[in-house]
Amino acid sequence: MLLKISTTYSPATDLGYLLHKHPARIQSFELAFGQAHVFYPDARPEKCTAALLLDVDPVALVRRPHGRFAENFALAQYVSDRPYVASSFLSVAIARVFSSALSGKCKERPQLVDTPIPLKAELSILPCRGGEKLLRQLFEPLGYTVTAEQQVLNPHFPDWGQSRYFSVALENTCRLSDLLTHLYILMPVLDDEKHYWVGEAEIEKLLKRGEDWLADHPEQEAIARRYLKHQRHLTHEALAQLREEDAQENDEATQAEKETEVEGQIGLNNIRLTTVTETLKQAGAKRVLDLGCGEGKLLRQLLAEKQFEEIVGMDVSHRALKIAQERLHYDRLPEKQKKRIRLFQGSLGYRDKRLTGYDAAAVVEVIEHLELPRLAAFERILFEFAGPKTVVLTTPNIEYNVQFENLKAGNFRHKDHRFEWTRDEFQSWAAGITKRFGYTVVFHPIGPEAENVGSPTQMAIFTRKIDK
Ligand code: SAH
Repeated sequence: MLLKISTTYSPATDLGYLLHKHPARIQSFELAFGQAHVFYPDARPEKCTAALLLDVDPVALVRRPHGRFAENFALAQYVSDRPYVASSFLSVAIARVFSSALSGKCKERPQLVDTPIPLKAELSILPCRGGEKLLRQLFEPLGYTVTAEQQVLNPHFPDWGQSRYFSVALENTCRLSDLLTHLYILMPVLDDEKHYWVGEAEIEKLLKRGEDWLADHPEQEAIARRYLKHQRHLTHEALAQLREEDAQENDEATQAEKETEVEGQIGLNNIRLTTVTETLKQAGAKRVLDLGCGEGKLLRQLLAEKQFEEIVGMDVSHRALKIAQERLHYDRLPEKQKKRIRLFQGSLGYRDKRLTGYDAAAVVEVIEHLELPRLAAFERILFEFAGPKTVVLTTPNIEYNVQFENLKAGNFRHKDHRFEWTRDEFQSWAAGITKRFGYTVVFHPIGPEAENVGSPTQMAIFTRKIDK
């Protein structure tokens, strides 16, 4: 199986830097299922071509202890097309051999990484279940010019007709990391097959690699369905997260500013974060979660406090997490600090093992972004399954909204808020939680208090009654 990547960017041999593979050398890599070789059939300043030759070992495939081909159909030992076609094996090889390029990292040419350059990918044999039509539907919306030549099933017997195999060229002016990412995801989608077990982790992979383009792709449903091997619950979850994120991203950029504008006059955000940090300190927490951490303002405060030995930020939005990482200057943090903090993508709509075992969780201005019918799931995920000793949770107090001069009567503070609660509503919701999950609760106002309407933010501090 051969993948060729060419550029006419000048000097074209810079492709060697972007791929982290020297054009003059042949390099080989051992993979679980065979070998990958990288070499350059052409390396001139005007045009440079890198080739990734994947030599899948059919015997190793059959011998793999959990090799599904071996288990599922013995005939596959004799007639498997796997060694010869572009498939999830090639995706794995790309991730392994070109990992820095796939992630868009290049120390020698940092600017070039982000520069769209003319690129062409050629795949000798690409299986396309769904034919040329699907091939075009997948790549053309991403800006590719697609050339495809369908292979006959057997050249000796033309009557047998066409096969599902195509020789394909894809041309685009884009970043190399985009090209590799699109291939990485879309090859197994076209093949509609994966050589390994597909579970929850694949959702994360799909959303991470699809971050910049999947939410806008007209075929996102087919992509998710096929990538996740038609497992309905996984597909459903992936699409839900994608939509959630998409809605937020469209909104958040403009709306976050608006909310800051509304609340900004009274410097509420800072007061809120300082209060939450103090509360977590008072609770004696050492290992803390910031759920719906957004762009990481609270994380920054927590990092400045030595008491917190382990700090984890989770958010559904990849974009927010990326900004958080930049704001924390994560890459430049000393090793000791880096070890204290971790960010990951996840949704409060789904039970998540990664959230168990912490002393405390902060959920600051997040619940009002959840759909009311999904609040019950959130409650179990946090209070029953994750079960931290302390939960510090804040949400707007709607009664206070009349005090904001620049907020139209009846409007929420943020377009993405699904609800805002009065003090009574919040307190009776919290009381329900204490009963169902064995916590106690106390309430604190945050921000300047006004007569009759209270403070702009309301905070609940939940404490688990019994040690887990
Ligand atoms: N806690 C931060 C951000 C609040 S904005 C702060 O106080 O500044 C709300 C955040 O919740 C956003 O970053 C949004 O992406 C996140 N969010 C919304 N729904 C979520 C969900 N289901 N799971 C996890 N995070 C979610």
